Amino acid sequence: DAQRQAGRVQSVVELFARICAEQEEELGRIDAIAGDGDHGQGMVLGTRGAVEAGAVALERGAGARTVLVHAGTAWAESAGGTSGALWGAALTAAGRALSDERASDDAAKGQALLDAVDAVRRLGGAEVGDKTMIDAAVPFSGELRKGLDAGTPLAEAITAAAQVAQQAARDTADMTARLGRSRVLGDKSLGTPDPGAVSFSLLMQALGEHLAE
Ligand code: ADP
Ligand code: MG
Ligand code: MG
Repeated sequence: DAQRQAGRVQSVVELFARICAEQEEELGRIDAIAGDGDHGQGMVLGTRGAVEAGAVALERGAGARTVLVHAGTAWAESAGGTSGALWGAALTAAGRALSDERASDDAAKGQALLDAVDAVRRLGGAEVGDKTMIDAAVPFSGELRKGLDAGTPLAEAITAAAQVAQQAARDTADMTARLGRSRVLGDKSLGTPDPGAVSFSLLMQALGEHLAE
């Protein structure tokens, strides 16, 4: 029911926080090569803020929609950087696709993920090829939509899409950055994947595995 779904949504936010904590150093290392080195820290602060805000909302009896909207708002505020604003918008958009009163079906949950990627696209204005998280998120979205249209169960469709995202994130190593802070150091980023694309694919892999459990 609706209350259980709110709890499940909060577990996903907690999962994201665990993965970011595990990957903090590596994400910082990648970001330091052509950016300012704070991507791991930003993702940790953002997800930590999201977990806290989600927990407060859950405690007050909020539904899945409100838990995610509050978590997203807190992510953006706690992280500080560009990726924090984008992930904040993603969670908020995903929340708006869900309901506080009713449990959503797989189609609605899948649509929430597609809406999240659209929100990142709209807010960030990046195109595929700019060497940002969009280079992983757009192929992810495309594959997820295909899976959902084919009637693939949600966890399976997300896992397949996350695999596409992982490869796409790796492929960003061959690109030079055109947006964000690393643009002035664009050539320096050649040979290193985009940190935001890497973290996106890691979180979507974890989400697929989590939903399959
Ligand atoms: P900051 O760049 O403010 O230090 P982070 O280091 O946390 O923030 O995040 C950097 C990541 O943000 C990049 O690797 C890239 O994936 C993503 N990013 C930056 N600008 C954009 C944008 N306009 N659209 C989508 N993603 C972006
Ligand atoms: Mg940075
Ligand atoms: Mg920064």
